[in-house]
Amino acid sequence: MQVLKTVNDPEIGASIVNLGMVRAVEVRGNTVGIQIALTAPNCPARTTIRDDVMKAVSKIEGVAGVDVQLSSMTDQERGKLPQAMANRPPVERTNSQQPSNSKFMGIDKLPKRKFGQIIAVTSGKGGVGKSLVTGLLAVELRRHGFSVGILDADLTGASIAKIFGVKDRPIWTSATPAPPTSGTGIKLASMGFLMERDDTALIWRGPLINSAIRQFYSDFEWGNVDFLLVDLPPGTSDAPLSVFQSLPLDAALIISSPQELAVMIVGKAINLAKTMQIPILGLVENMSFATCPDCGKRIDLFGRSKAKKLPKPPA
Ligand SMILES: [Zn+2]
Repeated sequence: MQVLKTVNDPEIGASIVNLGMVRAVEVRGNTVGIQIALTAPNCPARTTIRDDVMKAVSKIEGVAGVDVQLSSMTDQERGKLPQAMANRPPVERTNSQQPSNSKFMGIDKLPKRKFGQIIAVTSGKGGVGKSLVTGLLAVELRRHGFSVGILDADLTGASIAKIFGVKDRPIWTSATPAPPTSGTGIKLASMGFLMERDDTALIWRGPLINSAIRQFYSDFEWGNVDFLLVDLPPGTSDAPLSVFQSLPLDAALIISSPQELAVMIVGKAINLAKTMQIPILGLVENMSFATCPDCGKRIDLFGRSKAKKLPKPPA
């Protein structure tokens, strides 16, 4: 129990022991069986909680195996949650105007807050310049006088901080910190700010990404933002999927490049947006061609465009 006290419910930010989530601990020889009652049946943090419990208990000397069983609290148990915590629901519910895809995989959609338009920038795979396009789009919107924010959800690269030349790691002391801003006032939330070294490639698990994104989205004092651009992790794995599910996105922009030979891969990203019922603004084929500075000839650096072979989003 002492060790379990160090494990927090990431959604509530309190120890699972204090929350009364530990139903039973059973020691059989060198194996420990633990029953955890989640505060909600589809708690988005369920995998994180299970993994954290496994990790914490495995560290105890002499423990060879850990078996974690998850269930959910009864209404009565939920009623016993300390009052202060019960007042803060684990997941903010969507308002009724938002189209809800939340039944899918049990991830709840966050509320819209003060964002005008929330646009996801996505790609079928990495290396197509998605973050750069996100940055350029933000700069252009800013030039038109809009208030712009970028939520860097691509934790594998986390290059947004670098693109905008924001080098200092911000010191966050408030519970609702303001996001750092670029030279022209673009508000930036990037995992890159939290990383020790910018050459460290992070492989984050889906649930952890989802938790980090939720915190950036919910806990930051964004103020008024006309356009929030979300730089999604590449691909169609559970990482981008969880962002699609948890943020109230208004539209998606798909980035590709001619050398991304497998049209199928981009098609998958398009289909993901379609499945999540998010309107697709368009497809940007990055690095499509270069114009020769001497004679003005167009050079297709990576071969002819393949954009027209892609499935078209519904009109
Ligand atoms: Zn030339």
